[in-house]
Amino acid sequence: MSPERLVPHNPATGQPLEPVDCTTPEGVREAVARARTAQRAWANTAADARARQVRALAQAIGDHADALGRSISEEMGKPIREARSEARSIAARVESFVRAADQALADDDGVESGIRMRVRWRPLGVVGVIAPWNYPVATPSNLLLSALLTGNAAVFKPSEYTPHTGALLHRLYAETLPEGLVGLVQGAAKVGAALVASDVDMIAFTGSIATGQAIMREAAATMKRLVLELGGKDPMLVLPGADLQAAARHAADEALRNAGQVCVSVERIIVHADVAAEFTRRVADLVRAVKPGDPREESTAFGPMASARQRDLVLEQLADARRHGATFVVEGQAQEPGYYLTPTVVTDLKPEMTLVKDETFGPVVAIQVARDVEEAVQLANDTRYGLGASVWGAPGPELDAVADRIEAGMVGVNRGLSTAAGGPWVGWKMSGLGYTRSVAGMRHFLQPQSQARRAE
Ligand code: NAD
Repeated sequence: MSPERLVPHNPATGQPLEPVDCTTPEGVREAVARARTAQRAWANTAADARARQVRALAQAIGDHADALGRSISEEMGKPIREARSEARSIAARVESFVRAADQALADDDGVESGIRMRVRWRPLGVVGVIAPWNYPVATPSNLLLSALLTGNAAVFKPSEYTPHTGALLHRLYAETLPEGLVGLVQGAAKVGAALVASDVDMIAFTGSIATGQAIMREAAATMKRLVLELGGKDPMLVLPGADLQAAARHAADEALRNAGQVCVSVERIIVHADVAAEFTRRVADLVRAVKPGDPREESTAFGPMASARQRDLVLEQLADARRHGATFVVEGQAQEPGYYLTPTVVTDLKPEMTLVKDETFGPVVAIQVARDVEEAVQLANDTRYGLGASVWGAPGPELDAVADRIEAGMVGVNRGLSTAAGGPWVGWKMSGLGYTRSVAGMRHFLQPQSQARRAE
């Protein structure tokens, strides 16, 4: 029987790309078995030797930024400059991962009641890494690097929308690291589910809430460890005293980056009534200046959406908002060939609109107006999501207090998110389970063993 095939499409043209064979159930089992064999030697390799190899891998990914960037652009429509910098971001990040892993691997020691307790942190074994399409190099690499630096092996399943990028990325892992340590399986939900049901010890997943829930259900059978990084509905609060031009710039840049297909993004803007008109005017001016282009061109900053499905989901939310009385300040249009959707600025939103309730993941600047700070905080928190957020206002203790009240894992104050200083990557509420990066995040890829002995 011939294997099932994936047929990715070029979002700028709508044309099919080379098909890719899906991995068979037997192929999934073999990849996991090979990774398990390789993991034994890897776990016994000194942490600094592992780190050296992972640094070389990050360097190799950076060295291949041109090829990876072209592949990302072709498969999911990201403008080439941004696609290349996605590939380069791994090398820039690897040192903070190495530092966090080093600390996470260190024993915890303590003496109490005459007993010395030593807590050792041990790798879990083989980690199944299941990735989305929106950052097809950076997102899986964040999870793979964490798994590897903590002494685990991995089996990687790229998104069915970006299998060629996944294969190219995997080749660099395979060429730089010991044989079989990182396996590759290709396919969509069925292959992902097979990986979850397999003999792996942990699933590190980035993607939608619905898939995260399916993985949790499946993982219950074998009590697999899970880290789930899921969707968001990130609010940006704009309050009196904010630098309105900087805030408008941030809103336009972040809501439209990668055609709005970013997990930590600006999904909702909640602007105080006193500054709403001025802010909306400024952001609309910036958005009107955005011109869609061919993602292969160096000058393009705004490309197509990644798939017809994703574009249609956004169009449905916009139609629902229109039915419920939203006002379109800038009206986005679907453009062909390909899956282009030009940016929208929309206001007069109501809580029942899907544009307010659900993740949009598209080029939409959605503006809600709040009577006062109290209402702004209440609107920001009135969601099942809790990934990122930002608050904009006069710097000082009052603004800091607003940030403290936001129910989200990552909050920027007069700026977007930054985990540059080693903070965890974390979603609250339904935006995630567990977290990554930081020492605490690395420990999700390890399991503690308490060793008790009489204190000498
Ligand atoms: P998705 O959930 O549809 O797919 C993600 C991956 O899961 C794909 O590889 C897919 O093949 C696989 N999959 C699907 N069904 C499965 C199943 N039953 N069992 C196992 N695997 C299965 O998500 P997507 O559309 O690729 O990505 C977009 C979503 O990812 C958005 O919600 C976005 O917010 C989220 N995301 C979150 C973060 C974060 O850090 N929190 C980062 C990037 C993207």
